[in-house]
Amino acid sequence: MITFAPDLVINRYMAEIVTQENQEKKSLNFIEQIVEQDLAEGKNGGRIQTRFPPEPNGYLHIGHAKAICMDFGIAERYGGICNLRFDDTNPTKENVEYVDAIMEDIRWLGFQWANVFYASDYFQQLWDFAVELIKEGKAYIDEQPQEVILSQKGTPTQPGIESPYRNRPMEENLALFEKMNSGELEEGSMVLRAKIDMSHNNMLFRDPIIYRIVKTPHHRTGDKWKAYPMYDFAHGQSDFFEGVTHSLCTLEFVPHRPLYDLFIDWLKKGEDLDDNRPKQREFNKLNLNYTLLSKRNLLSLVQNNMVDGWDDPRMPTICGYRRRGYTPEAIKLFVDKIGYTLYDALNDMALMEAACREDLNRRATRVSAVIDPVKLIVTNYPEDKVELLDAINNPEDPEAGTHQIAFSRELWIEREDFMEEAPKKYFRLTPGQEVRLKNAYIVLCTGCKKDAEGRVEEIYCECIPNTKTGESESNRRVRGTIHWVSIAHAVQAEVRLYDRLWLVENPRDELARLRETGLDVVDAMKQMMNPNSLEVRPCCYVEEFLADAQPLDHFQFQRIGYFCTDKSSTPDHLVFNRTVSLKDSFKPKG
Ligand code: ATP
Ligand code: MG
Repeated sequence: MITFAPDLVINRYMAEIVTQENQEKKSLNFIEQIVEQDLAEGKNGGRIQTRFPPEPNGYLHIGHAKAICMDFGIAERYGGICNLRFDDTNPTKENVEYVDAIMEDIRWLGFQWANVFYASDYFQQLWDFAVELIKEGKAYIDEQPQEVILSQKGTPTQPGIESPYRNRPMEENLALFEKMNSGELEEGSMVLRAKIDMSHNNMLFRDPIIYRIVKTPHHRTGDKWKAYPMYDFAHGQSDFFEGVTHSLCTLEFVPHRPLYDLFIDWLKKGEDLDDNRPKQREFNKLNLNYTLLSKRNLLSLVQNNMVDGWDDPRMPTICGYRRRGYTPEAIKLFVDKIGYTLYDALNDMALMEAACREDLNRRATRVSAVIDPVKLIVTNYPEDKVELLDAINNPEDPEAGTHQIAFSRELWIEREDFMEEAPKKYFRLTPGQEVRLKNAYIVLCTGCKKDAEGRVEEIYCECIPNTKTGESESNRRVRGTIHWVSIAHAVQAEVRLYDRLWLVENPRDELARLRETGLDVVDAMKQMMNPNSLEVRPCCYVEEFLADAQPLDHFQFQRIGYFCTDKSSTPDHLVFNRTVSLKDSFKPKG
């Protein structure tokens, strides 16, 4: 059996190395190389067909995005097709909500499948094939309990023990297989096993279970079936029935590949398939630090209300990233940067955030928002005067134009942009210092007023005439620029600031470790969770331009970060999610 290094390598620089290499060779990733070679050799008649095969047992996460980019990307690049196939062989965990969500997320990422198929489309064909195997003496019904079957498997260095039912007469096997599907048997009371080799060095060949009884109704076939094929007995055959040429999956399936090939050989009974059979090839899974993937874990978070649903902006689901403000382009850029390799690694979340900034920098409209407001009064500015000033929407994109912002005597600014007594290198507001108010005047700070507790209530400044952009004094030298919004014109908004959901760099391994100490999933997760992963600021002020911001609109709150209008936002109650800060300010704890 093939095994992989159990410890993940921290892979901070991998992305750069991979992309550099790719650029140098203008090179193909190793899967593309395989595909090109197959095309050159005329395999499968020059056809390319892939599939993306999710199990509809949860929402897609960022790891799936990597597989999607590969499956759809290969088809696109080589003029082939990619189908969506739901691997729905386990009715207890699957449902239509997940099917719909998976489709929505793939479309949002910008991919379109040629056909939608379901493994359940092939239940009859798979059943017939299993019957065929029984008749050929290649499968038998085992009535031993699961634990016993497991205990007879042996170890990689020791052969397994043959089941006492292994040589049951064919007729008996056929009758019992029918019975497995009739509803009269309890789950777990018997299974169908392929008869291969109990001492094979690939443990998966030691008479694998290929059918089991499940009595939960199926989301598509209802209660028609009670006997369901196992993954290994469904996946390769489904690929074969559909005409898949390249069945791309992740590295944990490497040991399954020989079984995948064997079942297809059995299916075609020795017919020469060399140039016309699906080929399973494997690439590394995406693992991200400070991120827990796996639908099963994410489902626990949702079911135990530890997050605000599958699309909580802290979730690593595709819909979570969408709600958080990531774009499909940012996700694809990230996947591109990390590349595909033949070994498992742990990628740095900072790479994902950098890809997001790179993309949003190109598309986000620059606006002013104050998320920790304190009042600034321009004492020499007339009380009833309002000026409309031009603000550039996006310096990276001249075509994005400008919008207007109102300037008046009373403004909101960030509390941290004032210090009554400031150190030397503090270039923001402090009495006696001049500062530029972004898009407006240079002002001289003159002082502040404090409440009984000594907290600053109001800050005062004087506007220096003719210092607006383009005016005679505008080139006057100042070290700092701060943002502001006019109090009379600002709109109140709720701002949600997110941080990492997990305190530990490798939550997957930490969760496993805590579970081993006897903790249940919820308690273990609670120990690992960042208690400050969400900070809600109910009373922020944003410029008027944002009053009709629509859900999923992207903005750069100048000097603060990239933000996205939340799906719950309305004109009466604006809500913005911080997608990512402007710079990487994260410091690992400890
Ligand atoms: P999970 O454990 O999160 O449920 P899974 O592998 O069971 O993941 P499936 O729906 O069975 O999820 O997988 C659909 C496809 O996505 C498979 O081809 C699988 O290899 C791929 N995939 C799943 N997780 C990742 C990941 N982290 N990185 C890359 N590909 C992944
Ligand atoms: Mg799964």
